[in-house]
Amino acid sequence: MSLYPRAVIDLDAVQHNLACVRRLAPQSKVMSVIKADAYGHGAKAIAQALADTDAFAVARLSEGIALRDLGFQQAIVLLEGVHSLAEMQLAVQYQLAPVVHQSAHIDWLEECPSLPFIWLMLETGMHRLGLPEAVIRESVEQLKKQPAHVGKLGLMSHFANSDLLGDSRNQSQLSVMTKLAAETGLPVCMANSAAVVSLPESYADWVRPGLMLYGISPFADKTGHDLGLKPAMQLTSILIAIQMLKAGDEVGYGGEWTATQSCRMGVISIGYGDGFSRHLSNTGQVMIRGKMLPVIGRVSMDTICVLLDNCPDAQTGDEVLLWGTSQLTVESQALRADTIPYELTTVLAGRVDREYQHGKS
Ligand SMILES: *Cc1c(COP(=O)(O)O)cnc(C)c1O
Repeated sequence: MSLYPRAVIDLDAVQHNLACVRRLAPQSKVMSVIKADAYGHGAKAIAQALADTDAFAVARLSEGIALRDLGFQQAIVLLEGVHSLAEMQLAVQYQLAPVVHQSAHIDWLEECPSLPFIWLMLETGMHRLGLPEAVIRESVEQLKKQPAHVGKLGLMSHFANSDLLGDSRNQSQLSVMTKLAAETGLPVCMANSAAVVSLPESYADWVRPGLMLYGISPFADKTGHDLGLKPAMQLTSILIAIQMLKAGDEVGYGGEWTATQSCRMGVISIGYGDGFSRHLSNTGQVMIRGKMLPVIGRVSMDTICVLLDNCPDAQTGDEVLLWGTSQLTVESQALRADTIPYELTTVLAGRVDREYQHGKS
C-alpha cells in the first residue's frame, strides 16, 4: 500500500545545502536550525543527515530533550531559552545551551555551573527576544567572574529584515553587535539563512541557517533553485475521483467556484487536515502529468478540487505534485497562499507520510 499524501524528503539535498552554507561561510561554524520538527521535514532524519554540523538549534527545551533522547551528542542550542530555574537545571542535565534573554535567566546561571554554553541574546532592532546592550555588558562582567562560565559565553542576535536586500536596518543591527563583540571579545552568532546568502559581513564565528538547509529561499522573489540550493521536500498525493461538470455547477463548500461551461474536475486526496493551507482555495496550483492545474473552490479538510481542462489524459490514481520541483516550488505556492514557505512545510500534519531517500529517485 502506498501512503498518501506523501512528503518525500531527499537527505542528499539537505547535505548539499549544508555544503552550500559551508562554501559561503567557510570561516564560520554552522548551527543548523531544526526547530519545529526541522520545519516539518522530520527532526530525527534531518539531524542524522546533518550529523557533521557544528551544532543544532531548536526553539524549546522539549525539542532539545527529544534530540538527546534520540541519542544525538552534538551541541544543541535552545533559541527560546528556558523559563524557570527548574528548566535551566534540565538544560544542565541534558547538556543543552540556552539562549539567555531575560535578566532573571542571568540570575539562575549562578546555580547552574555546568551548562555547556550560554548564548546572550542582544537586542539590536528585532524587538522580540533580547536584552539591551547595557544589560548584556554588565552581565558579561558578572559572568566572567564566575569561573564555571568562563570560555562558555557567546553573543547572539537575530535580523528582522535580512530577507530585504540592501535594507539599511540590517547594517544598523549589525553595528550594534559589532561594537559589543569588539568590547567583550566574545564569539558571535547572527546570520540566519537570508544573511548567509546576502550579508557576508554578518558571518562572524557562527552562522545559524534554517530554511536554506531545506533548499528553500528566504527571499520572496527567488527560489531555492535560484540560490543554488536543492529543495529537500516533494509533496505529492493522488487523484481519487473525476467528475464531469456542466455550466452552472458549483464546486465545494460555499460554492465559491462555478463552472461556466462543461468541464472535467478532479478531486485530490489532500486538505487542510494535512496542513495544505486553506488559503490556497481558488488560488493554489498542482501538477498532474507535467501539466499545471488550478485549485478550484475551497480547500476541504481531506480534499481539494482542480480543473482538469489542461490535462485531458488525467486518470484516477494519477500522482499529483503539490510542490517541490523547479516547475512548482513551495515558494510559488506560498506566494499564492499569501504566506511564506516556512509556514507551508512547517504545518504539514502527522497524517502526511514522510519518506526519506538519498538523491532523487
Ligand atoms: C528560526 C530561527 C533561525 C533560522 O532562520 P532561517 O530564516 O530559517 O534561516 C535563526 N535564528 C533564530 C533566533 C530563529 O528563531
